[in-house]
Parts: sequence; structure tokens; C-alpha cells
Amino acid sequence: MDCLFCKIVAGDIPARKFYEDEQVIAFHDIHPQAPVHFLLIPKKHIRTFNDLEEDDKALLGHITYTAQRLAKELGCEGGFRMVMNCNPLAGQSVYHIHMHVLGQRQMAWPPG
Ligand code: AMP
Ligand code: ZN
Repeated sequence: MDCLFCKIVAGDIPARKFYEDEQVIAFHDIHPQAPVHFLLIPKKHIRTFNDLEEDDKALLGHITYTAQRLAKELGCEGGFRMVMNCNPLAGQSVYHIHMHVLGQRQMAWPPG
């Protein structure tokens, strides 16, 4: 499959991966937007949030739970942001769903 993040899951493209379990991997974003900026992705290929199915609910819960656990491990318990972009209008550029986790700087609201 011609998907950048599937290739990272398979190990065909290098990434600064720092966490893996049966369902997800986490790696540092190649263009970090904060001192801590990592991506948490399912190993399963899901193109966008619009493609989620009922059976994916537990997987999304696992991603959310793991995101906060890893954020704390990286010293972000004082505040962090989790972002999931869906489709070009929201700024999605890689079509394999991913949660951004950003921390260790002041965030603004609303996002641009
Ligand atoms: P989005 O724009 O929400 O789809 O986010 C995609 C993210 O993937 C961006 O923050 C990119 O910097 C990041 N990214 C793209 N290619 C790589 C890569 N090879 N390794 C790590 N992060 C990447
Ligand atoms: Zn994929």
C-alpha cells in the first residue's frame, strides 16, 4: 500500500519511534511544532476520521489513553494538546489517521 505511515509501521521508512504495542506506534514528528511533538498512529490503515467504523471505538480509546500516558512520560503533565486533523480543510496531509501530541510550550486558542 502506498501509505507513508504504513511504511513506518512496517519499518520500511525510518522514524524516531519510541513506543510500540500490538495496536499502535508513537514516533517524533519530523517537523516538530513544539519542544515535544509526537504522532500516535494505529498500525491498522484508516485513511481519515470519516472512515472510522463502530469496531474502531476501542482502538480510538486506546490511542487517547496511550497519548496521555506518553505525554506524561515526556514531561508534559503541565499541559499538552492532542490534535487529529480530518481532510484538507483541517490540514490533514498524511492519509493514515494520527494523533498529534504537542507540549512544553504555551498553546494559543483558537488554532489557526
Ligand atoms: P497532518 O498534517 O495532520 O496530516 O500531519 C502529518 C504530520 O506528519 C506532519 O506534522 C508532518 O510533519 C509529519 N510527518 C510527515 N512525514 C513524516 C515522517 N517521515 N516522519 C515523521 N513525521 C512525519
Ligand atoms: Zn497507512
